[in-house]
Amino acid sequence: QAKDKGKNSVCFYTSDINDRLHHYQKIAMTLHNALSDDTLQLYFQPQIDLNDGHILSCEALLRCSDNNSQPIPPDVFIPVAEKSGLINRIGNWVIEAACQQLVAWKGTALENVRIDINLSGKQLTNPNLAEQILKTLHQHELRPSQLGVELTENEVIGGDNVQIGQLETLKNAGVHISIDDFGTGYSSLVYLSKLPVCSLKIDRSFLVHAMENESDMAIMKAIINVGHSLGLTVVVEGVETIEQDKLVKSLGCDLAQGYLYARPMPADKMPEYLYDILPKP
Ligand code: C2E
Ligand code: MG
Ligand code: MG
Ligand code: MG
Repeated sequence: QAKDKGKNSVCFYTSDINDRLHHYQKIAMTLHNALSDDTLQLYFQPQIDLNDGHILSCEALLRCSDNNSQPIPPDVFIPVAEKSGLINRIGNWVIEAACQQLVAWKGTALENVRIDINLSGKQLTNPNLAEQILKTLHQHELRPSQLGVELTENEVIGGDNVQIGQLETLKNAGVHISIDDFGTGYSSLVYLSKLPVCSLKIDRSFLVHAMENESDMAIMKAIINVGHSLGLTVVVEGVETIEQDKLVKSLGCDLAQGYLYARPMPADKMPEYLYDILPKP
């Protein structure tokens, strides 16, 4: 311990850095192995149309486990993937896996459910990304409108015209574009109005506090109004309670996603879930 060594606190920082480096390398190695062993997995979380309760789309959420089969949270492994340069291979795996899932759902009750994948800003710096996504869809004989992509504000803002151009290519082809975690970034409304997007997903944190905090409630209302006046679909993330469901319905949100409706689940649980929410005779 640094304390035991008196004023020599350098060693404290050194061991801290070593720990973090070790942690980082372990995760990078796990990701690397998961790619070669093909053990990454997509989970799916339904996005519910608040007008009629049907599943319009579902978000694909990446899952990765360590050597002991313990799940590593994506908020931990995605930043490692970005820093280690593995994000492009992982991103391509996600695009391919989402397309394969759409193919598997063909002819089933889930065939009209769109899959929305998360894109990292790093992936958008690949100038061929849009072309590659469209090519993958085409190879699987899928329509571009069967896929959506989610990006956070900051991932788009930092971008130059090439990145915006790629989003435009995707949107013009019919791929659904959503701004994820909306409200937490730094984009201005003027900027937003110029972006090629279809939906805004209001960050979960606003809903969490909207029930007791007037300013969060005001922000939610404002985002919904701005979204609608720009002709965008407004999605709310993180609905966990019936009160929150009532609130977002009364505020006029279009779609909702959250533990109240369903937790993210493996693809093979989706038909069961769909059956459970069907009105019974
Ligand atoms: P996100 O895109 O904002 O995804 C929503 C997160 O909120 C998911 O966490 C989901 O499980 C969680 N969530 C959904 N409903 C509720 C709820 O009612 N309450 C609470 N407390 N949480 C809820 P998850 O799966 O841990 O993913 C975290 C983040 O990791 C995602 O945030 C996304 O930014 C990133 N991520 C996940 N998969 C991918 C991927 O394939 N590629 C990239 N680049 N990022 C990904
Ligand atoms: Mg997302
Ligand atoms: Mg989100
Ligand atoms: Mg997020």
